[in-house]
Parts: sequence; C-alpha cells; structure tokens
Amino acid sequence: MPITPLMPVYPRCAVRPVRGEGVYLYGERGEQYLDFAAGIAVNALGHGHPHLTKVLQDQVATLMHVSNLYGSPQGEVLAQRIVDVSFADTVFFTNSGVEAVECAIKTARRYHFVNGNPQRHKLITFKNAFHGRSLGAISATDQAKMRDGFEPLLPGFAYAKFNDLEGALALIDDETAGFMVETVQGEGGMTAGTPEFIQGLRKACDEHGLLLILDEIQCGYGRTGKMWAYEHYGITPDIMTAAKGIGGGFPLGACLATEEAAKGMVIGTHGSTYGGNPLAMAAGSAILDVMLEDGFLGNVTKMGERLRQAFEQMIPNHDHLFEEIRGKGLMLGIKMKEPAVSRDFVAHLRDNHGLLTVAAGENVFRVLPPLVINEDHIAECVERLSEGARTFGIPSDD
Ligand SMILES: *Cc1c(COP(=O)(O)O)cnc(C)c1O
Repeated sequence: MPITPLMPVYPRCAVRPVRGEGVYLYGERGEQYLDFAAGIAVNALGHGHPHLTKVLQDQVATLMHVSNLYGSPQGEVLAQRIVDVSFADTVFFTNSGVEAVECAIKTARRYHFVNGNPQRHKLITFKNAFHGRSLGAISATDQAKMRDGFEPLLPGFAYAKFNDLEGALALIDDETAGFMVETVQGEGGMTAGTPEFIQGLRKACDEHGLLLILDEIQCGYGRTGKMWAYEHYGITPDIMTAAKGIGGGFPLGACLATEEAAKGMVIGTHGSTYGGNPLAMAAGSAILDVMLEDGFLGNVTKMGERLRQAFEQMIPNHDHLFEEIRGKGLMLGIKMKEPAVSRDFVAHLRDNHGLLTVAAGENVFRVLPPLVINEDHIAECVERLSEGARTFGIPSDD
C-alpha cells in the first residue's frame, strides 16, 4: 500500500463528520452522533454556536491577519480580558497548545537566566503527562509511545510520579528551574492532582525560588466548572498554558505569566507569525463573551455533578466493566476493568450507539462534552452509554 496523502499518524475511524450543530455531529451519510468528545475538549460552545459564528464571519470580512510587527488592538483587548480573569499579568498568544508549552518552557529558562542562574534550566515533570508533540513537549513526558525514535530529546527534564509530592521534591537540585504539571491530567488518565500535591508544589516553589508551570490546556477554561482548574486548589501558578477550549474550535493557545516570571521575555526573545492574529483574537473574545455570562460556569458545575451522579448510578449495573469515575466538572473519565479495554469501548459506543467519547491512558475513557449541555443531553448520553455497556462483549484472550 502506498502512503496516504494525509500522513497516516492517526488511527482514523469510520466517523467522517461534515457538519455540526450544537452537541451533535453529522457524518457524510447524514448519520448523527452525540458529541461528548467535543474535539477533545475544544468545542466548548458546541458546534456552530451563533455568537462565535457571527463574530468570526464579521472578522473574516474585516481583517484576518496582520503581522505582529504592528499594533494589535484585538490582541490587547483579549489579553486584558484574560489577565482580568486569571492570576496572570501578561499573555503570549499561540496557534496551538504545544506552542504555549514551548513558550512556558522558554519563559521559565529565561527567568533564571536573567536572574543570573543559567544553570537552573531543568523542569521536573510527571509520569504519564501529556504536553503535546513538539520535541520540547515530548521531552517533558516519560511516555515511550510519544518519545520512541525521536531521540536525542531536549535535555533538562526529570520525571516524578504524579501526585507523589515527596518524589517530586526529592528531584530538586541546583539545576532545577521549576515544575511543569497538568492540574488535572487529561490524556494520561483524567487524574486530578490532589490538594496536598498541587499545594505542596506551590510551597516548594516559594521556598526554593522555583517556578510553578501549570498546563491547563485541557482542564482550564471552564472545563472543570471554574475558569481555571487551579482555583479548586487555592493557589496560583507563575506560568500557565491554555488552549483547546480557549478558541472553541478556532486554533488558539496562550501562555500566561506573572510579571515576575515573564521578566526575561523581552523584545526579540520569542515570536509567532500567526500567533494572536485578529481572527484568532475575535474567536477568543467571542468565547469569553459567552463563558463570562452569569450562570455559564455554574451550569458546567451543575451538569458535571449530574453527569457524575448518573455515572455513579450506572456503574453498579455494569460492575464487570467499570471501576471508578475520575476528573472534575465536565472533564470526566471512567476507568474500565480488565479485560475490557477503554479503546474498544469507545469504538463500540461510537459505531453502535452514536456516542462520541475519547480514550485515555490507564484504561480510562474520557467524557468531554461541550460546556453548554443541558439535562436532556445528559439523559441521552447515559441512555446510550448504558445500552452500550449492556451490548459490549468482553473480548476473549485469544
Ligand atoms: C492537548 C494538550 C496539549 C497539546 O495541545 P495541541 O493543541 O495538540 O498542541 C498539551 N497539554 C495538554 C494537557 C493537552 O491536553
């Protein structure tokens, strides 16, 4: 077989979406799916949201792209709005999550460099982490499936176990720049950081002059029912990455930092041709318009609780399949019991029950609906999921 024109790095399934409407996706033959994957936590407002659509249409017709060599009234507005709703004093806009991670790593290294400590270049990161697919980001995880064949990777990372504070602190040495951690691990298995862990990392940073980088690309931006996942922990980071839901489907990411942490990021140290262009800024502003409306985040919390309760009720009926529920808000995961495999179950729900979810590490499947779902969508999800559980044949060992 010759290689496909589309580089075959994804195990693409038979779902071929051509249209979206709210919480539903439609395939080439008109078949309907309940989309509780949301482009992997991207389509925060679902598909075809009227406000996002209108703002983008208007902006396309007005001004799509200009160079970052010019002033950016659109970028100034969105950056100020993000600063107003976060710990941050400053924001760098990117086109993807991994570029925000790259900016975060560079910001941390520059901080210690301009402080006269260039040897402090090492980040302590965590097993099972996912920070994206650049060479820097795959260097920041221990996951072999992402690293194999790409060595030599970027030096300057050490890996501790997630939620193991002692283990992480034991790795601190004279070369440590800080920690980089997902507040709630997504791809790795939907595990929330424990309060002792996240707060302990913050405390260690304060004591040792280190930087805390939170990767909230998946768990931030309203996904857990708060604007940022760190708000659940009563701490703030020094640097943070955001993406996925921030553009609601338009490619947009951001690296946020305090004034102190960003002190090395002066003219000429970083850049991006497309980053923060007027169209992306319009998308970001449109998402915030909706997300900051009264009751939006409250609905996420409420729907998250409903969905979790419904899952809790369902689990005992399918004791052989499901082990536990993980995550926060509308970032939920269900861990499956072997020999059931989450990847197979995701395929079964998709192909036979019209329900889209996403597989994750540790035999978990992720439920990441648009943040605008209501009780009816939850009822429909649970119905399809229960039916799927009933019809799912446990694979035999042969
Ligand atoms: C998706 C994700 C990334 C990478 O984002 P891309 O837009 O795919 O580059 C990084 N970190 C976390 C936690 C993610 O979930």
